[in-house]
Amino acid sequence: MERTDIAIVGGGAAGLTAAIYAARERLAAVLIDDYPGGQILQAALVDNYPGLPEISGEELGEAFRQHAQDKGAVFLESTVAHIKRENDIFVLTLDDGVQTSELRARSVIYAAGCRHRLLGVEGEARLTGHGVSYCASCDAAFYPQKTVAVVGGGNTALGDALLLSRIAETVYLIHRRDTFRASAALVEAVKQTDNIQLILHTVPLEICGEKAVTGIRLRNQNDQTQQLLQIDGVFAAVGMQPDTAMVSDFVRCDETGYVIAGEDGITSCPGLFAAGDIRTKQLRQVITAAADGANCVRSAEHYLRTRKG
Ligand code: NAP
Repeated sequence: MERTDIAIVGGGAAGLTAAIYAARERLAAVLIDDYPGGQILQAALVDNYPGLPEISGEELGEAFRQHAQDKGAVFLESTVAHIKRENDIFVLTLDDGVQTSELRARSVIYAAGCRHRLLGVEGEARLTGHGVSYCASCDAAFYPQKTVAVVGGGNTALGDALLLSRIAETVYLIHRRDTFRASAALVEAVKQTDNIQLILHTVPLEICGEKAVTGIRLRNQNDQTQQLLQIDGVFAAVGMQPDTAMVSDFVRCDETGYVIAGEDGITSCPGLFAAGDIRTKQLRQVITAAADGANCVRSAEHYLRTRKG
């Protein structure tokens, strides 16, 4: 069984930044992810990371990964299947797709991020991968001159709608309210784009189609009327859910599942630090995730130095 001082779980902006900081401090750290880069790899465009205007998410995620590698970070290409605590040691069960193994760690920086929230409507599961997508930057290219719908009102949904508007003929943006969580700049850009049509106060009821998406049935929240839109694809962008099932037995989470931790990443479980989208915070962005990664290394280093064993 391998041993390390810090196991970094998750290779997004938070985990990769932690790996860079740990490598610079010459700490014994291992980053575990089957495909380092994180959620940002799926963002069409990132225009709020200082100094790198208009960079694609893929380029930014890859630059983080390369930076960590150049600093000498140690990567294990695996998923973490399970974490348990044995006294003061964390035992991680890793699965690389072929076999499982165990890694013992004196501390964990938990930066596992979030999963896409599902729409939860009829037809969604059956048609995922056949016209239902959760990643516009991955799948937009399949819809040249087609008609697509995006569901959601946050930064992801509006960014996806703008990306799709450059490829598809018509983009319906379906949102359950008439105000958006997305930044004012994105809302303005969407409103100025001719081939994006807003359908507000509306929720999806069903995604239609046998083997591929052919339509989406909607309900207006104000008057309860229903309509069936003919579309070729639907992009669900209704937010994220924290991936905390593995640690929720021994770390305190809030009522929505996020690990309760401040900027220092310190959680209710000594030795386990939370970084990135997984932790309770106001603003979930690449820059705040990267800051968390740096802060967690500082906290982990202090914990390891002041702890015996
Ligand atoms: P989000 O901000 O949580 O927005 C989710 C949207 O989906 C909301 O508009 C919500 O409506 C709607 N929604 C939720 N459940 C729904 C349901 N069951 N049916 C219909 N609509 C539903 O999620 P996100 O856009 O994925 O963003 C996640 C985080 O990443 C945010 O913190 C965001 O700022 C960040 N992000 C940042 C960037 C960037 O900085 N470049 C890009 C993308 C994402 P309500 O508004 O009515 O609740």
